[in-house]
Amino acid sequence: MPHVLLVEDEPAIADTLIYAFGTECFEVTHVLTGADALAAFARDAHDIVILDIGLPDMTGIDVCRHLRETSAVPLLFLTARNGEVDRILGLELGGDDYVTKPFSPREIVARVRAILRRSRAPKTGESAASEDMATGVFHHDAAAMRIHCHGVTLDLTAHEYKLLLVLLEKPGRVFTRDQLLDHAWEDPGAVTDRTIDAHIKSIRAKMRAVRAGAEDHIQTRRGLGYLFSLD
Ligand code: CA
Repeated sequence: MPHVLLVEDEPAIADTLIYAFGTECFEVTHVLTGADALAAFARDAHDIVILDIGLPDMTGIDVCRHLRETSAVPLLFLTARNGEVDRILGLELGGDDYVTKPFSPREIVARVRAILRRSRAPKTGESAASEDMATGVFHHDAAAMRIHCHGVTLDLTAHEYKLLLVLLEKPGRVFTRDQLLDHAWEDPGAVTDRTIDAHIKSIRAKMRAVRAGAEDHIQTRRGLGYLFSLD
């Protein structure tokens, strides 16, 4: 039975979600504040976190940042504001998806199912799920879902991690932006090509912070896409 941690301070919304997940045979732990969410997450294993952005004690974004220090748990944001900023913030911070209020409980359950399917069977290749991989100065620790560069752990968001892994697994192969979206996003229709560019830029900056020049391993093929180069 999948275990959902629901972080939502509005009782009416929480109740409909608890009911919907209950009828679909999910176990739900419901908390109303960010502090309680972090405590609950530290206490129990959860398969996914559903996180409201507007919480009484801190923002859902803050909660996400704390969670990401120790965990790559799948995360679905609930946001009341239908703004691009919220959306990008959610994605940059390592949320796997987001839903704008008002939403139907069925939609949330469907999204959660999709995210869990994705997290259990990564499209990035079966070997990646179970085996470590070393490519030049890069090393993928599959169990920890981390990528090291020159021995230093890259502090990647969930999407950055998935993107870099796709490139890393096939050095020399050019991936189009569409292919990268397809590999690294649950719902590729919800994001644009420019999202890929923004994430690549961020990954490169993090590589560069480890060692100047490391960012050159991700190369741009103008008009085509990106590739990982061993050179
Ligand atoms: Ca709220």
